[in-house]
Amino acid sequence: MARFRIGLTGGIASGKTTVGQILADCGAVIIDSDLLAREAVEPGTDGLAQIVRRFGDRVISDGRLDRAELGRIIFADARARRDLEAIIHPAVRRRAAELETAAGPDAVVVQMIPLLVETGQQDRFDAVIVVDVPEHLQRERLMARNRLSAEEADARIAAQATRDQRNAAATVVIDNSSPDREDLRQRVEAVYRELIGETPHQLGSCCCD
Ligand code: ATP
Repeated sequence: MARFRIGLTGGIASGKTTVGQILADCGAVIIDSDLLAREAVEPGTDGLAQIVRRFGDRVISDGRLDRAELGRIIFADARARRDLEAIIHPAVRRRAAELETAAGPDAVVVQMIPLLVETGQQDRFDAVIVVDVPEHLQRERLMARNRLSAEEADARIAAQATRDQRNAAATVVIDNSSPDREDLRQRVEAVYRELIGETPHQLGSCCCD
């Protein structure tokens, strides 16, 4: 078990990756559940075999998972979505636990989980950090990064928990509305210090470069 375990979440395009990078610079070990979910369905995995058993060959294209096809199926069928989650979530949690063990007992581990609140995982951590932005900025950044229309961005935002629901689960809320990244870095470092009770490992060499 790691020395201190943090759950990091926030709405889509709120800045989780940006904050996670700063926490990594502070010395934390980052475990990205989106990445683990992708790895869990790579060719040759048990996860992909289970998906084919449940959904059939139509979700395979050139030997790989056809995400677009699977997406069409699960967004039209809540039971299919639950079945998919029942395959992927345990695989992601198992792999996250392995990575935590490998990080060692002295590590500060940050699990980055977009749907942490929606999946009720807040009590699994010593602390939960929520990255928060007002919806209009979330929409703006999502449209710019993913080249989406306002309607497409709004649909993705509406599919998640509300700001209030997420913030209610937080030990600490980090406001990421300012475009000043250096200000964000300093606030994240201060939160890290406060939670861990010590100076970030690489403060001198990395965080203050
Ligand atoms: P996702 O939910 O899709 O995984 P995320 O929460 O990890 O996204 P980021 O990828 O960190 O969010 O940030 C979303 C976009 O907003 C990126 O293009 C990023 O460069 C930009 N961004 C992040 N923080 C700020 C900021 N403080 N000011 C302006 N743009 C920002």
